[in-house]
Amino acid sequence: NNNNNNKELNGVPSVIPGWFSEISPMWPGEAHSLKVESILFQGKSDYQDVIVFQSSTYGKVLILDGVIQLTERDECAYQEMITHLPLCSIPNPKKVLVIGGGDGGVLREVSRHSSVEQIDICEIDKMVVDVSKQFFPDVAIGFEDPRVNLHIGDGVAFLKAVPEGTYDAVIVDSSDPIGPAQELFEKPFFGSVAKALRPGGVVCTQAESIWLHMDIIENIVDNCRQIFKGSVNYAWTTVPTYPSGMIGFMLCSTKGPTVDFKHPVNPIDEKEFQKSVRPLKFYNSEIHTAAFCLPSFAKQKIGSK
Ligand code: SAM
Repeated sequence: NNNNNNKELNGVPSVIPGWFSEISPMWPGEAHSLKVESILFQGKSDYQDVIVFQSSTYGKVLILDGVIQLTERDECAYQEMITHLPLCSIPNPKKVLVIGGGDGGVLREVSRHSSVEQIDICEIDKMVVDVSKQFFPDVAIGFEDPRVNLHIGDGVAFLKAVPEGTYDAVIVDSSDPIGPAQELFEKPFFGSVAKALRPGGVVCTQAESIWLHMDIIENIVDNCRQIFKGSVNYAWTTVPTYPSGMIGFMLCSTKGPTVDFKHPVNPIDEKEFQKSVRPLKFYNSEIHTAAFCLPSFAKQKIGSK
């Protein structure tokens, strides 16, 4: 989606020479930029353009189809929140499914939970997994957990084939709804998620920014209210390198044991967490509860049950 007037840096969109600028019709009229030290990888998979570069101030950066997916400096905020918001909200999660998340960061976070016995992941693009293993070892470390089963394929098709009531939690770590992730934001997909969850099971799905995508969010909320018969909530976190500096999550539960997402029943055993990979950098119980507080303009539109 590069505008022809933009200067390019070895094929990387750049408004200021030597900087990567994130230009997309999903956030017209603005473009967050990072200074590029060197380009480490450029490839084209069957699904998307993949770029890795070394930035001056955020470490290595992964770009898919011109959009920042993660940086070494702030990936903790996204991966820890999208994982522990759902998993700390239910007692003893055992079976977890991750859709997308091919960088392995969500797997790294799920693996901190000792109650978990099985972690399935369905990522559409093998190139994302390979690139992450090569350039982001501290993120891709999630793949090393023996409980992880990696499936390369479309998450929509994968979920349709899952027997009813299989998972305690489903985490949808998707890219934006332009490109291969489009269907992951649509009602039939949420229907498959609900079916794949046990009664009182939970889903956490990437749900865009209240500053940029209120229409998309309202649509997701409407769909989720129709499909998930437990609770339906929107939470958010800061991520400096995401458009508008934040990202939201939709957290829903199926009919069954009540899930009160705002008051985590499965708080972190810090000692156990410290044993695995690295200490948590972002998530704690206070920020968990705070994540559900919305600015007035969003509260009015989204409401909360
Ligand atoms: N974990 C990242 C972070 O730290 O911000 C966020 C994005 S993650 C890399 C998004 C992944 O979803 C991509 O690897 C993309 O290939 C994958 N994806 C997109 N559409 C998909 C689909 N239909 N099924 C499975 N995976 C999909």
